[in-house]
Amino acid sequence: MAILPQRHPSLNHARIAPPTRIHSSATAPPRPRRPNPSPITLDPAPAPRPPLPNDPTLRSNWSHRTWLASGCTTVLISLSKSIEAAAASHTYLEPILAALLGYVLADLGSGVYHWGIDNYGGAETPVFGAQIDAFQGHHRWPWTITRRQSANNLHALARAVAFTVTPINIICGDATALAFVAACSGFIMFSQQSHAWAHMTKSKLPPVVAALQDAGVLVSRTQHAAHHRAPYNNNYCIVSGVWNEVLDGSKFFEIMEMVIFFRFGVRPRSWAEPNAGWTEEDEDEPEATSLLS
Ligand SMILES: [Zn+2]
Ligand SMILES: [Zn+2]
Repeated sequence: MAILPQRHPSLNHARIAPPTRIHSSATAPPRPRRPNPSPITLDPAPAPRPPLPNDPTLRSNWSHRTWLASGCTTVLISLSKSIEAAAASHTYLEPILAALLGYVLADLGSGVYHWGIDNYGGAETPVFGAQIDAFQGHHRWPWTITRRQSANNLHALARAVAFTVTPINIICGDATALAFVAACSGFIMFSQQSHAWAHMTKSKLPPVVAALQDAGVLVSRTQHAAHHRAPYNNNYCIVSGVWNEVLDGSKFFEIMEMVIFFRFGVRPRSWAEPNAGWTEEDEDEPEATSLLS
């Protein structure tokens, strides 16, 4: 006791307490009751916050621009090689039909990909984590896509296109195959742009884009608005939207979700609705964009 400084009475008391001994229950002296410690309170996790209008996460950087330029260059190489091969062989109908098929299937691909990252995985998922996280944020704050700069919005798919299409450009010289690849990869790469246009008011859209939406060439604002309403499990396609009715009417994604659940035991996020992760939060700012205006 003497070695402990007296200015720490609590420590002093702790040090002079007898060592712990094992007593039988019959002979054990009653232990002094200690007052209940105050309950431990943990600070709740901070609620996610929407990006600010000038948030750096919405701006393009040189990496985004480089990947977008690489993706565009890759698609243009496919297209120019296709035209060159078509001119050399005087074959035009097949490449044109193949390009149309590529455009149609790009919509299907955008729907399957969108469904996958909306429903499975998380921010920590390898390769797709950033996209999954971004799409979850998009469901909470859909209007932010209209403020995201183009290269920021498109760079992830542009990078995937650059890596996928470059080997095809090197080994393929067929006009029809290259036309399909150019159209399909190009529309997939720009699917996030048609998605952004589907969130903009008609008055803010370039007239030609509004006309293409009205004609069904690009996904319409009305159709995509349904994706952001309960039950949050339909209208995944974001290029032309032509596959939405087919996929939703046939319950294609619901069947796929059941197959994955019974095979792997993994539930899609859409089964957990409603929860805050999907529910759109109101925008505070006066220039709020309405999907239907
Ligand atoms: Zn979605
Ligand atoms: Zn959206």
